[in-house]
Amino acid sequence: MKIGIVGAGQLGQMLALAGFPLAFDFRFLDSSADSPGARVAPIVTGAFDDLASLRELARSVDLVTYEFENVPVAALREVAALRPCHPPVDALRVSQDRVLEKQLFGELGIPTPPFRTVDSLVDLEAAVAAVGLPAVLKTRRLGYDGRGQRVLKRRADVAPAWEALGSVPLILEGFVAFDREVSIIGARGTNGETRAYPLALNTHREGILRVTVAPHRNARLQRAAEGHLRRVMDHFGYTGVLTLEFFVERGRLVANEMAPRVHNSGHWTIEGAVTSQFENHLRAITGLPLGDTSAVGHSAMVNFIGTLPERARVLAVPGAHHHDYGKAPRPGRKLGHVTVVARSGAERDLLLRKLLRLVPR
Ligand code: AMP
Repeated sequence: MKIGIVGAGQLGQMLALAGFPLAFDFRFLDSSADSPGARVAPIVTGAFDDLASLRELARSVDLVTYEFENVPVAALREVAALRPCHPPVDALRVSQDRVLEKQLFGELGIPTPPFRTVDSLVDLEAAVAAVGLPAVLKTRRLGYDGRGQRVLKRRADVAPAWEALGSVPLILEGFVAFDREVSIIGARGTNGETRAYPLALNTHREGILRVTVAPHRNARLQRAAEGHLRRVMDHFGYTGVLTLEFFVERGRLVANEMAPRVHNSGHWTIEGAVTSQFENHLRAITGLPLGDTSAVGHSAMVNFIGTLPERARVLAVPGAHHHDYGKAPRPGRKLGHVTVVARSGAERDLLLRKLLRLVPR
């Protein structure tokens, strides 16, 4: 079976690497011919909204999936008319707009920070009055890794934030004074079977994921997160891997966002779970039984952002699994990651400290 992947970034590369043992073949579409995916499978080079390229990809494969969230929905609908497309295009549509996403969470009984839609400075003033300060002003669409966001601490921050972001539709969210951030990743198969991974504990800096530790054992939060995940999946008749990111505020989950795809906070599952998120995504969309999502130990994953540490030094850390995506270094760019899997939480924390010494902070 040949699977088309829209987007040939590292997520696409890792999907293909997980699919080869299952005898799947892959073809990518990406605007850049030297994307990470191009190292492992052929690539159709074209813009994500170029219908001719999308049709060329679709016609040459049995089904299509995507690893990139900013594919225009109208273009993907064209693909879905030609070949089965997973996850559902509607899940992508909602995930592309922070307001639609939070409205859906609300309808499904999933707590979110207070929020208001902002389309003018007058709206922003009203939103600040309703939500209170501090608050976070974000672009509704096309924001990722903390881009397109401003924290408003005092009233004097309102006008400059509007100046900086106000040319596009915005959302104002209450600032969540969170204890920690967690994510849950799960898969739902074409037959409705679902499985969830243990919660992952995530540390971000400047809006970019730096470190994930998993499993984050907390039976109450795990139950709540799995309930939220299942409700979102059932709502869409979902197929594939879905990620929900939460703040933990005073011991309770507050949803931040969803990603209808494999996720950086699930990279630990390659070595740290019985079945990786990448393999389970492929199993889910091809109608195969889902794999065991249990953790096999205590994992830590550290992202390489902007620069790569010396590979030999990373590999000198016992049990380190080094992943270099083959991308050119650039500030703020995710170039690779390392995962360690230990027998105990204490051993994992020791190894994590060693890794963090190698990674520029
Ligand atoms: P996002 O792009 O929405 O995932 O935001 C990136 C990161 O910014 C999050 O992982 C948080 O660390 C921080 N952040 C985003 N929204 C909020 C919020 N409403 N309150 C506090 N921190 C936030």
